[in-house]
Amino acid sequence: MKRDIRLVMLLLLVIGCSLTSLTIWKVLSSRDRALAEVNIHGLNLTQALTTYTEGIVRQSSLLLLGLVERLETEGSGPAQIQRISALIGRQQPLMPQLSGITVYDHQGRWLMSSNRPIPQGANSSDRAYFIHHRDDPSREPFIGPPIRSRANQEWVVTVSRRFNDAQGKFAGVVAVTLGVENFLRVFGKLDVGQEGAIGLSYADGTLLVRYPFREQDMGRNFSKSPIYTQYLVDQTVGTAAYTSSLDGVERLYAFRKSETLPLITTVALGKHEALAAWRIEAALSAVVVAGLLGLTGLIGGFLILDIRRRTAAEEALRVAQQQLLDSNRQWAQLAKKDALTGLANRRCFDETLALEARRAQREGTSLALLMIDIDHFKRFNDACGHVAGDACLQAVSTLLETSVRQPSDLVARYGGEEMAIILPATDNEGAVVVARRILERLQHENIRHPSSPLGYVSVSIGIAAGRGSRLEPALGLIEAADAALYRAKAAGRNGFSLQPSGVASDG
Ligand code: GH3
Ligand code: MG
Ligand code: MG
Repeated sequence: MKRDIRLVMLLLLVIGCSLTSLTIWKVLSSRDRALAEVNIHGLNLTQALTTYTEGIVRQSSLLLLGLVERLETEGSGPAQIQRISALIGRQQPLMPQLSGITVYDHQGRWLMSSNRPIPQGANSSDRAYFIHHRDDPSREPFIGPPIRSRANQEWVVTVSRRFNDAQGKFAGVVAVTLGVENFLRVFGKLDVGQEGAIGLSYADGTLLVRYPFREQDMGRNFSKSPIYTQYLVDQTVGTAAYTSSLDGVERLYAFRKSETLPLITTVALGKHEALAAWRIEAALSAVVVAGLLGLTGLIGGFLILDIRRRTAAEEALRVAQQQLLDSNRQWAQLAKKDALTGLANRRCFDETLALEARRAQREGTSLALLMIDIDHFKRFNDACGHVAGDACLQAVSTLLETSVRQPSDLVARYGGEEMAIILPATDNEGAVVVARRILERLQHENIRHPSSPLGYVSVSIGIAAGRGSRLEPALGLIEAADAALYRAKAAGRNGFSLQPSGVASDG
């Protein structure tokens, strides 16, 4: 039963461990899946945003190319500027992302602005894009850092080109301004959650646009952030996860470097937010598994309780059975005993004699029987009373019992004050030894018998021994021993007689 309980406990343990480990494995792998999905989503967004930005910059750059071509071939006199202004006026509505187009001369003075009249003395020679084109003869377009437009105070990103005079010298700059507001409008249509952010940066780490907009980040350089220091070193596209040094929020970043422009698009999603659905799923799984485990434990507990109850019942039954067996054995013992003397009773004597007679015949050994009768016992009773008579019977019985040595010897109360001793594997000679010992010990014991000529309790013993067919029937042995006893009595008592020959006395 203890084994059963151990098995149930093992089963519960196996179920518990498997269920828990399976759930942990499932929850962890679904977390990995959720993170992988967030990364794929982020990468797709960077792809779309990069394509969008490249398109705008390419359009701006093409527009600028046309303007530069005109300015270089036709010059930048007032009439030409007038014509260009008219041309831009027609083109600009086709490109809503454009905030404005401005033409500067070689000293940074405004020659034309598409969306407002030129302010008195306006000069942009201090602007990064102007300085770049003045000092760098390259004809390539330049994407400048975000600046506040002097025209309308809005944050803008510039795309600009240089134009030369007929001698190939620097003649001025044409710049397209792209309102950050326009980018934010597009970026804002994408769902990046509460903690998410979309960034467009220059290749050197200068932030051009960030959604959600934060004034303090405009033009800031992020070249020290892990994306630049670790990932963009050998990757043009990829994902990363780290905690922002700005707000301490852990985000999953997807980044992509434009293949044609020095621009980097970044989409960041808050990790905590991105895993919100997973957390709910994990919590649900945990609740279901805890419930299942609890139920399994409950069933297991009931099972163990039931086994324990059954074990206890079986134990009680076993104890009761044992008690029954013990009491049966005791009853059997008692049934074989004589109540007064504690010797084997008559029934036991008869059974044992028959058994031993058969054994002696089978084994070819001799079987001896002593019939012992207390002398003048009637007188003892008469003189001392029945109670003393009983005590005398008990004393003689004890003496007889301690006078035999072999465990197979049996002392029995044959009836009244007559006792019998069965001595297996014993012949007359052995029986005589026992008889003498009894007579000697009685003399030595000296139990007072006021009505006996000897003055103490004595017995007369009839001895019979036989082997083989003489033991068939065993009753014959009793008769022979009885006859010998009669002779011992007749010979004057306190002695023994052997059957069939003469009488011997120890006195
Ligand atoms: P004998 O020497 O010839 O054997 O004489 P006896 O008196 O011993 O023999 P008898 O058969 O005349 O008397 C036996 C007496 O033993 C009769 C009875 O009162 C007594 N007796 C038998 N069984 C018991 C017993 O259990 N208790 C007591 N106290 N006396 C018993
Ligand atoms: Mg008698
Ligand atoms: Mg007698």
